[in-house]
Amino acid sequence: MFVVWKSKRLIAALAVLIVLQAVLAGFLIASNLPAKKATLIDFTVVIDAGHGGIDGGVVGVDGVKESALNLAYSKTLGEIFERAGFNVVYTRKNEGGLYGLATNGFKLRDMKERKRIIEEAQPDLMISVHMNKFSASYRSGPQVFYQQGEESGRSLAENLQRVFNDLTGKTREAIAGDYYVCRETSCPAVIVECGFLSNPDECAALQTDEYREQICNLIFGGVMLYLYEG
Ligand SMILES: [Zn+2]
Repeated sequence: MFVVWKSKRLIAALAVLIVLQAVLAGFLIASNLPAKKATLIDFTVVIDAGHGGIDGGVVGVDGVKESALNLAYSKTLGEIFERAGFNVVYTRKNEGGLYGLATNGFKLRDMKERKRIIEEAQPDLMISVHMNKFSASYRSGPQVFYQQGEESGRSLAENLQRVFNDLTGKTREAIAGDYYVCRETSCPAVIVECGFLSNPDECAALQTDEYREQICNLIFGGVMLYLYEG
């Protein structure tokens, strides 16, 4: 159920994007630019891998840590944006947290450090990557969140949710709320919960390279839809 496509239009749009990515990658090689440093597009995306260090986030039914999956998804997502010529800034690139010493108040220090990194990057867009959990194991599928009252964040979130719904066949809507990392970010910002670690099938799928790449390609496609349609 995790690999079923529902929309021809979306397939076409993503095919165009994949070709565009290939063309841009070819340009980078042809021009002998160092692929890691070259950015063809003056557009910065911050990718925020949620949790880290002593804060492992939620735990999957098989014991997998959310923080580790968030990091893997963030790296894959960042590589997709980098290949397409975007400038990418990561809040964390390893398993460590951002709080310094693991003493009282570490969570707030961790969040403030994320805010500092995001502010310094002056991004055009921010995506915070997380995994979900629910008390009942049947719930599945990606869910996108945005800051209540932030119109650009809402639009980005709705485009992402639309792309995800094409994958899952669900009619889920992006959810508004009050989230530090979105509230404290001045550009369009979303939290993407990639799937439910409380669902055994989805927990297993989320740990495969194929599903991770599919979800990250969909996030990239959703961002392209947002940039195209606003
Ligand atoms: Zn989380």
